[in-house]
Parts: sequence; C-alpha cells; structure tokens
Amino acid sequence: MTKITDYFGELVFNKKVMRERLSNDTYEKLMATIYNGSPLDDSIAENIAHAMKEWAISQGATHFTHWFQPQRGGTAEKHDSFITYSHDNEIIERFSGKQLIQSEPDASSFPSGGIRSTFEARGYTAWDPTSPAFLLETGKTKTLVIPSVFLSWTGEVLDLKTPYLRSVRCLNDACIKLQRILGNRLARRITVNCGPEQEYFIVSKKLYDTRPDLRICGRTLFGAVPPKGQQMEDHYFGAIPEKMTRFMEKLDHELYRRGIPAKTRHNEVSPNQFELALLFEDANLAIDHNLQVMNVMKGVADEFGFVVLLHEKPYAGVNGSGKHVNWSISDNTGANYLEPSASPLKNINFLLTLGALMLGVDKFGGLLRACVADAGNDHRLGANEAPPAIMSIYLGEYLTNLIDQIENIDNLNEQTMANINLGVRNLPKISKDYSDRNRTSPIAFTGNKFEFRAVGSSQNPSEAVTVLNQICAYGLFIIEKRMMQEKGKDVRENALRVLKEVFKETRRIRFEGNGYSDAWQKEGASLGLPNAKNTPAALPSYLTKDVIDLMEGTHVLTERELKAKVDIKLETYIKTKEIEFKTAINMARTLILPAITKQISLTAGAVANMKNAGCNSELLLQDAKTYEVLYLKIKEKIIELEEQVNTSKKDMFSKANFYADIAEKTLLELRKVVDKAEELVANEFWPMAKYQELLTIL
Ligand code: ADP
Ligand code: MG
Repeated sequence: MTKITDYFGELVFNKKVMRERLSNDTYEKLMATIYNGSPLDDSIAENIAHAMKEWAISQGATHFTHWFQPQRGGTAEKHDSFITYSHDNEIIERFSGKQLIQSEPDASSFPSGGIRSTFEARGYTAWDPTSPAFLLETGKTKTLVIPSVFLSWTGEVLDLKTPYLRSVRCLNDACIKLQRILGNRLARRITVNCGPEQEYFIVSKKLYDTRPDLRICGRTLFGAVPPKGQQMEDHYFGAIPEKMTRFMEKLDHELYRRGIPAKTRHNEVSPNQFELALLFEDANLAIDHNLQVMNVMKGVADEFGFVVLLHEKPYAGVNGSGKHVNWSISDNTGANYLEPSASPLKNINFLLTLGALMLGVDKFGGLLRACVADAGNDHRLGANEAPPAIMSIYLGEYLTNLIDQIENIDNLNEQTMANINLGVRNLPKISKDYSDRNRTSPIAFTGNKFEFRAVGSSQNPSEAVTVLNQICAYGLFIIEKRMMQEKGKDVRENALRVLKEVFKETRRIRFEGNGYSDAWQKEGASLGLPNAKNTPAALPSYLTKDVIDLMEGTHVLTERELKAKVDIKLETYIKTKEIEFKTAINMARTLILPAITKQISLTAGAVANMKNAGCNSELLLQDAKTYEVLYLKIKEKIIELEEQVNTSKKDMFSKANFYADIAEKTLLELRKVVDKAEELVANEFWPMAKYQELLTIL
C-alpha cells in the first residue's frame, strides 16, 4: 500500500516541482504573486514556461491548453502541441512566456450575451498564476493545463473566474480597512476559503443507454415513481456497496494525484446518491478543483460501467442534488473571521463579519437567488426537499440568543461587553452539537463558516462565492461608514453600537424554523423577502438598480457585462427547456406510443381469441379501451407541447416565462399519462429502464 502523501499532487506543477525546476529568484517572485498578490514580473514568465514544458514533457505530455470557465458553465480548453519551427526550420518543442501568459482560442462559439458580435469574435485567455498548472489525463494522453481567465479584446468579461478574482480584491480591501479601524496592524491580506460538498447520482451505463432523456437532458422526463423509493430513508449514511466503494476509492486516488484533497465520502438520502466533500482551500483553488472533480468523476465512472448524474433533479419523487458551498474568510495571520475566539477583539470582528453578511443577505436576497438560478436548479429550490427559494440565514439557537441580547443592550459597559465576549467564546462548544440541525435553510452558520446550500450540483460554484464576497464587502462597507461616525469612541463600544442597529435592521432574514413550511412562504412574503419560483422570475433581480450599483461599486461587472450575463443565462434556460420539450416529444412519439400500440394489439388479439373460445372478453375489452384512451391523450399532449415549443414570442424574457409557466405544465401533463401507461403496459414492451432498476442499489 502506498501512502496518499506519496503521490498526492503528482500531476500538478506544484511548489515541490517549482522549487526543483525554477531558479530561486524566479520561484520567489512567483510566490510573491501567488501569496501576496504582487503583479507578475514579466521577466520570469519565460523561465516558468520553459520549466513547465520540460516538466510536462518528462511526464509524457505533448500538448498544452489554456483552461477556462465560460459563462455557459463547465470548462473549456483548446489544445496546442509544443512543436514549432526553429531558426533553421527544424521541428522543435517550445513553450514561450508569451504562450503561457496569453492564448487566443477561437471564441466565436462561446456565448457572450451580445458583447462580441461575430465580426469581432475574438477573445483571449490569460494565465491565472494563483491556480497551479497541471496535467490533464485523458486515457494515456497527457496535456499541460494552464488555468486561465477569458476576456474579450475590449477587456470585457467572458468567463466566471475574472468576476470571482475581482470580488476577492474588493472583499480584501473592505476587510483590511475594517481591521485597521479595529486597530489590527498585522492583517495584510485575506483569503476566501471554500469547501464544496458535491452530491451526485450513479447509474449503470447499460440502463442509462436505454434512456434518451438521461443521455440528452441529464434527467428523466418520464418515469413512474417505484413503490420503494426513498421512503425508508435507509440509504443515508448506509453501508456503501462494494462496487461503489471501489469506484470511490479509484476516484479519490485520481483526485489525490491531481492534488485535490478529497476528504469525505458517503451515501446520501436517495438510493444511488452520494456525496464527496473536499478539505477547504483558497476558494480560487477550490472552485478549479470542483470543476475538475466533476470531470474526473465522469471518467472514473466510465471504467466501472457507471454514469455520474450531476443534474440537480435526475429523478422525480426522490431527492435532488445540491452543492453545499462552505465559505469563510481568513487572513495572513491565520485568523478565521467567522471563528469565535478567546480574544475579545477577534470576537468583535467575528460579530462584525456576521453583521456584514446579514446586511448583504437582507439587501441582496434576490441576487443570491438569481446567482444559483438555472433550469436544473429550479427543480430543487422551493421544491420542499432543498432549501427554499427565500434567502434567509440560520444561526442556531445560541447565536440567535446572543444577537437578541446585543439588540437589546441599552447600557454598554465593561460588564455587558465581557458577557458578550464570553457568549461568543462559548459558541464553538454549543454549535458543534446544534448548528447544523436545520437542513431547510439556504444559508446556515455552521460553527466557523457559512454554508450556502442553494447552489446546484452541476453548477460552477464560482458565481455563488463571488456573490457572497460581494454582499459581505457591501455589508462591511456600511459598517465601516457607521463606525467612522463615532471615530473617537472606544472601538468595541462603537462596534457594538453599530451591531445593535445592524441586527435590528436585518431581523427579517434570520429564520430558525422549517423552511419547507407554507407558513414560512407566507411570512417571507409579508416580510418582503423575494421568493422567485423559477429562473425567468429570478433573473430580473440582476437588473435592479441596487444590483447594478453593487456590481459596479465592487468593480466586479459593468452594467454592460451584467446585461450580457443575464442574456446568456436566459438563452441557456430557453435552450435547455427546448431540448427537454423536444426530447420528450420525440420519446413519446417514437418509444412510448409504439409500446402502447403493441400492448393494444396484444390485448385486441386476446379479446378475439377469448371470443372464439366462447369466453367472456368484457374485462379485456375494458383494458383495450384504457390503452386507447392513454394513446389518444398522449398524442394530444404531444401536439399541444409541439405547438407551444414553436410559439414565437416577442423577446427572450417572454419566451422563458412562457416555457416556465405554460410549456413546462404541458410536459408534466404528458408525463403523467406516460407514467400511467408505464404502470399498465407489459414489461416486455416498455422501451426503457424503469425507476425501479435505475435506483436499485448497485
Ligand atoms: P456538514 O455535512 O455538516 O456540512 P462536512 O464535514 O460534510 O459537514 O462538510 C464540511 C465542509 O466544509 C467540508 O468541505 C470542509 O472542507 C468545509 N469547511 C470546513 N471548515 C471550513 C472553513 N473554515 N471555511 C470553508 N469551508 C470549510
Ligand atoms: Mg453540509
């Protein structure tokens, strides 16, 4: 047995390799860029590129690629070989500093929301030195991968990494400014930490292949819920089946080779649903790693005859999948700003960070909902099995009491401050046991971090982290302004004065109860909390004045970039729905109706035989009638859905809303009849694997 640490990161151009292959000077300069945010010294790019190439070739790579995160989701890459002509026209292998820093993929097919018209379709990718280069392994092929951002030639954002990096810069400035006010001279730079928990389903490839809906849409559009679904709840944390254990072992192994710190693996609530959590890291890395995890999973699954389903809702009637994004802020001294401590000033800092996030959630609930909105996640949010679409914060009883106490302070003296400090210090002991009990909350405080649970399992977590950073920076900005009003005062007293206001103002977003209940839906509405039911309803939040101001004020996106983002999201939504509708129509017509036809002719034949034999064929005739009714109903719904798909609308929002409100309903009606047919038609005629099989423990 080899130890994990023996091969951890063997596919990464990591510090160990860099120390071996770079000169001291180059190494130090690169580290300064990675850890202190110093601008990259151009003169070292040539050396780094050379060292990367030599290392990659020694590992068997022939090509390199810039790897980036287009707005449509997932990742993108374009491979180039290292070969070029030498001065005397010989083929040599070369990778220049220029090639490392910048590349020009043919970007015309990436959505830009109108930012690039086709005649100026060029975009470029630029190296992000804060995320290490690594080797992509596809079968035996190895490619040197350069994590990059993606911009248009006019400097506009075309990806998800650029806004993320900008949001960190802004949060950094806001945090450090507040630290100075609190008298902290040691904090110079913050890190945003993120530990994503990835949920996923596994299905046998053989069964998956029988289902065009799974293959094309990633989710089942039809399928009767089996008698034994997840009612028994016997899968959660249950023993992991052997083949699955081997899959997970291989997956972890592959992740370790890529320097990805996979930590926890277990069964989830639904049959064949699992979770993989990573140790938390700098969020930039955690995001890049999560994107790799989603890719690596698919490859490893293939070796086992499995398919990984990352869709938020592969099956109706059983739980969907999310990606809990754990988020916290720490600084160069190692202090975690969401961690209670023995030091009173750190505890003030903890409460202020908490207050800042509450201000942000209070003001930008609509934005938080919008940043996780897509066709897949619409099936989860608000569907009583995942966090509701109302963005509230769960703090746990202990912290809630503490905040109530602060809200009600009328006399700030040494004693009250000491009490509060003691309260915060006791928090970890209490929250270990209690903080994570409420699974119905979209944003929960879990001891030393916040857990944003509304993120979809297939989504790039980058947008969620970006928004958390921005709204926290917004809150810190307000807090700082208020503290500056009484600059001369004792800083702790001043902070508590501000916190008292903040906690009062944001009371409506604190919710400790059952987020799935109807009562909360009503209460949320009366509190004025946004509660968008689906993507087209959620997206307009992006275009409100408050959000535009936030985006521009935090220098994350310009108004033009923001509008482009909304266009892309709408377009993606419309395309996704259209593909689902068309797939459903096609399956109903070419698979389901023929199956019913076979059943009808079998039954009709039986009726005739019974009659010939002089038996009573009444019951069989009734059956035939039932099949006929189903057949006609399905036909009717196919035609209705087809008309709806082809209806033209005046703009994208109208179209998206029409799909969400009208066509989706028709799809569900079609599904209902098909599922009824599934329960009646003979097994031998049913043209695809049923839920019962798909969800059978592997
Ligand atoms: P739970 O199931 O209670 O949410 P897990 O242990 O499954 O707990 O998940 C915790 C996740 O939170 C892990 O991915 C871990 O890396 C991450 N995490 C832990 N501490 C922090 C932190 N300070 N900042 C960000 N993420 C964290
Ligand atoms: Mg969790």
